[in-house]
Amino acid sequence: MTLRSVFIANRGEIAVRIIRACNELGIRTVQAYSDADADSLAVILADDAVNIGPGPAAKSYLDIETVVTAAHNSGADAVHPGYGFLAENGDFADAVVAAGMTFVGPDGASIRLLGDKVAARKIAAEAGVPTVPGSVGRVADIDAARATVTEIGFPLMIKAAAGGGGRGIRVAHNIDEFETCFPQAAREAAASFGDDGLYIEKVIGAARHVEVQFLGDGQNYVHCFERECSLQRRRQKVWEEAPAFDLPGQVRTAMCDSAVALARAVNYCGAGTVEYLYDPITHEFYFIEVNTRIQVEHPTTEMITGVDLVQAMLRIAGGEPLAIHQDEIKISGHAIECRINAEDPEKNFMPRPGTVETLRVPEGANIRFDSMLYEGYTVPPFYDSLLGKLIVHGPDRDVCLARLRVALGELQIDGLPTTVALHRLLTEDPAITGREFDTRFLEGWIERQFQP
Ligand code: ADP
Ligand code: ADP
Ligand code: MG
Repeated sequence: MTLRSVFIANRGEIAVRIIRACNELGIRTVQAYSDADADSLAVILADDAVNIGPGPAAKSYLDIETVVTAAHNSGADAVHPGYGFLAENGDFADAVVAAGMTFVGPDGASIRLLGDKVAARKIAAEAGVPTVPGSVGRVADIDAARATVTEIGFPLMIKAAAGGGGRGIRVAHNIDEFETCFPQAAREAAASFGDDGLYIEKVIGAARHVEVQFLGDGQNYVHCFERECSLQRRRQKVWEEAPAFDLPGQVRTAMCDSAVALARAVNYCGAGTVEYLYDPITHEFYFIEVNTRIQVEHPTTEMITGVDLVQAMLRIAGGEPLAIHQDEIKISGHAIECRINAEDPEKNFMPRPGTVETLRVPEGANIRFDSMLYEGYTVPPFYDSLLGKLIVHGPDRDVCLARLRVALGELQIDGLPTTVALHRLLTEDPAITGREFDTRFLEGWIERQFQP
């Protein structure tokens, strides 16, 4: 292992996750924190901590110069970006390297290539990976967009090339909606992502979101099979599983091989995910994007394969060749992750930060709780509402669901509203237990449950 100390340019549960991986590898940790995170669990657990400015992320976690300078001054020899914030910013990766440190992730060029969702579509198509029918590149203007619209028909999606986190996507069902949405989408993309580039995709209606985890060191590549992430609200994942259920063997093989081919095509170095939409009727799958970072739902893959993905990232960044071969990676049982957010499902999921008064964490075999919580901790208002994740493993999906029901029953977080009760309801729902859901399911289910 060549990395000696890692600067963690993130916060919350993923910072805690990275600290644990570093500790296991004997790597010193330096935690970045904003004024709002001075008492965070990550700051408590890290060997060292450095203040990087005020609570609002634009002035701290999103400020490249501030973060790189703090990392450099801390003496760290590497920077782990986590997810969100600067994790998929190629300029950040370049700045870390320019300051003489290692970026724990692919290089800036790979991030730019794959992080631009239009460029990634092109690379995928060239690597022989099926993509969603739509515009070939960015649509130059509304006239060029109309040509694509005529070709693919409705409903369609107008998507921001630089979008992410479920933002920057609009659906048009007819030409009038299209004419209204398109200029709005361009303005919103420019304001949100600093890039007004748009592309168009056909809506794949009854689809499931299935994604493949891969690892590569620039020479050797493996996949760690797939995750099922169809339970989404506002195009953000809420509940994830591994592996995907009822996936025919040849579809799994084709999807996983596609992901590896794509990673290899760009000499990718690190951990990444290729996201697909999967049509369970036709068994067709379509590339949607690549995430060039660790993902929120990575523990489900760790539970079923035994591969520690964060440790693998750190080892690859440290220059070690990939130590695991494809034939050593096997699927064992089933895992489910529930994202626990500080949101009130009864009040349209309004984020409601507050202080954790009581915390009781479920225990027992095959239960994992990755969180930022402790009793007395006050959740700051500035950031994403993710508090943590409950991940449960079982020999098959039914046992996993039963174990999840028990674990969610034990999990008690008092003092602020959370999505725990929503997950309890989901574990009892016949569509969930019966594996009858796609990406459209959860929105309708929420309407029926909470807005009668
Ligand atoms: P994952 O892809 O890991 O399953 P998400 O899509 O929910 O998870 O994204 C992970 C985190 O990164 C979330 O906090 C999300 O809000 C944030 N995020 C990802 N991309 C962007 C982006 N382009 N702009 C803003 N936030 C983003
Ligand atoms: P983000 O970068 O925000 O994660 P994605 O392109 O990955 O955006 O899409 C997020 C989600 O939106 C997908 O998981 C899926 O549920 C839905 N989605 C995206 N593209 C399509 C499409 N062409 N047809 C149907 N649903 C889609
Ligand atoms: Mg996505």
